[in-house]
Amino acid sequence: MDKERLDNDRLDDALAMLKKKGGRITPTRRAVIQILISESTHLSAEDLAKRIQHRLPDVHISTIYRTLDALEAVGVVDHVHLGHGRAIYHLSSDIHQHLVCEVCSSVTEVPESFFATLKGELQETFGFTMRAHHFAVIGRCRNCAVTVRSEIS
Ligand SMILES: [Zn+2]
Ligand SMILES: [Zn+2]
Ligand SMILES: [Zn+2]
Repeated sequence: MDKERLDNDRLDDALAMLKKKGGRITPTRRAVIQILISESTHLSAEDLAKRIQHRLPDVHISTIYRTLDALEAVGVVDHVHLGHGRAIYHLSSDIHQHLVCEVCSSVTEVPESFFATLKGELQETFGFTMRAHHFAVIGRCRNCAVTVRSEIS
């Protein structure tokens, strides 16, 4: 199946979920979902606003925030914090964990399953349910870790 077909299926799924939860399908909501599906980069509300204003010039940033809140409330969209910067948005069907390099700011996406052991142990020991993907794990990527080590020696 080509990417366009896949993207259309994902759009249909997201819109179906929105409808099922009693949400209205507005042009802005549809546009936000479409952009989240088609762009593989991590987008903040401001990034989304810029892209949507190309198609719908009258849409104000406050509408984008309200749209994102509404889509989060029905579970279609989820936000993630990648360090000090603004939150970025993902479709909820695309949950994963982020590793952010504090030196070069590169972002590596890893499956949630990498945190399964830690999640289980926190639950068992503290009765704490971790939502690992809400925040990124901060550290150094492979390249930057090597650079730092060679600077020290
Ligand atoms: Zn948050
Ligand atoms: Zn790095
Ligand atoms: Zn991501």
